[in-house]
Amino acid sequence: MIAVVHHPDYVTEAPARSTYRWGKNGAIRDLLRDEGGRVDWHEPAPMPRAWLEAVHDPDYVAEVLEARVPREKERRTGFPVTPLVARRAQVVPGGTYLAGVLALERGFSANTAGGSHHALANTGAGYCVFNDLAVAAHRLVEEGRVSRVAIVDCDVHQGDGTAALCAGHPQIATYSIHAEKNFPVRKAQSTRDVPLPDGVGDEEYLRVLDATLSDFLDTYRPDLILYQGGVDPFAGDRLGRLALSEDGLVQRERLVARLATERALPLACTVGGGYGDDVMAIAARHVRVILTLGAALAR
Ligand SMILES: [Zn+2]
Repeated sequence: MIAVVHHPDYVTEAPARSTYRWGKNGAIRDLLRDEGGRVDWHEPAPMPRAWLEAVHDPDYVAEVLEARVPREKERRTGFPVTPLVARRAQVVPGGTYLAGVLALERGFSANTAGGSHHALANTGAGYCVFNDLAVAAHRLVEEGRVSRVAIVDCDVHQGDGTAALCAGHPQIATYSIHAEKNFPVRKAQSTRDVPLPDGVGDEEYLRVLDATLSDFLDTYRPDLILYQGGVDPFAGDRLGRLALSEDGLVQRERLVARLATERALPLACTVGGGYGDDVMAIAARHVRVILTLGAALAR
């Protein structure tokens, strides 16, 4: 069975007009429910404030939790931080952390939200409020559950927030393969960055991912992968600049699963980006990520 982490608070109404698809997480939940007995469900607790503050500026944590984020930061985030959005922002990192704990026990787990890789210490950015990947990684390490964790980010946008928030931490390494000319304009420095030119398709993408991710994992030798499985490298994505096919995305997950299996590495998956008008098609892509990885890695 595939351990899936979900919380009802992930599914909230859109706080305002925004290109972020607020219906996505509910659609992902519904599609996974259709899998019946293949999936076993886990509900996370909200991330305790102290762990949010281990990564984010305490003033910013207070602004979010009290739903009084300054307008300028809300603009950078891409939507207003209402009390509902704040509650969601606190429970999503709890989900990524729980997915990490479950992956250590069972080889694989997936959070039906998260991958908020643009959030920075003192502000949200690019539809991300708190950086669930960085918060979960710090907590898993500090609790002694793992000695080294790798955050592997295959979203089409660079994991700049994750890179910045984990920089210099001796037990956390970050890998990001992304479209070089895409958001964010100013890139941060991950442990390993793999910038790609516009329009890269399946064959080239998979070749570069195989070579660079193998080397990264062998160099860093983590005990756990936290995976940002954004589906925005898809050719039809509104905010992507790469050209992966539906099959190419499936091949990407098979490749990531193979690299993890060869090294006996557990993997916890988060959702990440995926943009366009057809929410169900995007949700189906995210669910294929989860099921492909789960079929290969879940014990
Ligand atoms: Zn993205």
